[in-house]
Amino acid sequence: LFTVNNLTKKFKNGVVALDDVSVEINQGVTVIIGPSGSGKSTILRMLNAMETPSSGEVFYKDTTNIFEKGFKLNLYRQKVGMVFQNFHLFPHLTVLKNLNLAQMNVLKRSEAEATEISINYLTKVGLIDKKDVYPNQLSGGQKQRIAIARSLCMNPDVILFDEPTSALDPEMILEVLNVMQDLANQGMNMIIVTHEMNFARRVADDLIVMDKGKIIERNTPEEIFNNAKNPRTKEFLERVI
Ligand code: ATP
Ligand code: MG
Repeated sequence: LFTVNNLTKKFKNGVVALDDVSVEINQGVTVIIGPSGSGKSTILRMLNAMETPSSGEVFYKDTTNIFEKGFKLNLYRQKVGMVFQNFHLFPHLTVLKNLNLAQMNVLKRSEAEATEISINYLTKVGLIDKKDVYPNQLSGGQKQRIAIARSLCMNPDVILFDEPTSALDPEMILEVLNVMQDLANQGMNMIIVTHEMNFARRVADDLIVMDKGKIIERNTPEEIFNNAKNPRTKEFLERVI
């Protein structure tokens, strides 16, 4: 799905968030874990071109390098959706209008077409009864399910999730993970940064462990949870499980 070549990100303050990372990301579900500050969000943001690298390239399917001048980011971000920790819903728009907005602006769907699609995905995430409310009238778990539905409305090839449950109260985490599990079962390509280790173990086809700006280990979840090769992976897992 993605080919990442020698990606490095050094911030102005001197922090090296990504240190010469090269990786092929396949179809299916890839989960990225690792300690705080290891570069998980940075690499995810790079895949969506929300962050530009100091050096290196990212290819998506058979496209050119996404960081090349003239690369059509609007179209690209329709194919590569993103769901954030803090939902990023527009507070002044109803749920339905939040879902319709990019469909109308980016995909040039009519309001009627967009609404039909929005209603379909709102039903799928179990929130059709909330279509006319504003985001501040929703729980965190509901907001995140709306954000996922909004992403699905764009017919993405892949959705990137950056800690989608870490801003949620415990009782709301499961409802969001269940929606993501359903998507995985339906064959949606996803790249998920998460601290939910049980979920990672259950859902991942491919598990990537990052530490200090590098990928230190990559394998099936079974191998990594039962038989980690890198001592830093073991140390991290002992701390979080
Ligand atoms: P967490 O689990 O806490 O979300 P992470 O693995 O997502 O951590 P990143 O957000 O990718 O980590 O950050 C990697 C490193 O880059 C950290 O040391 C962080 O402080 C630094 N960093 C991230 N964004 C910036 C920025 N805009 N300016 C300067 N440094 C940054
Ligand atoms: Mg992060």
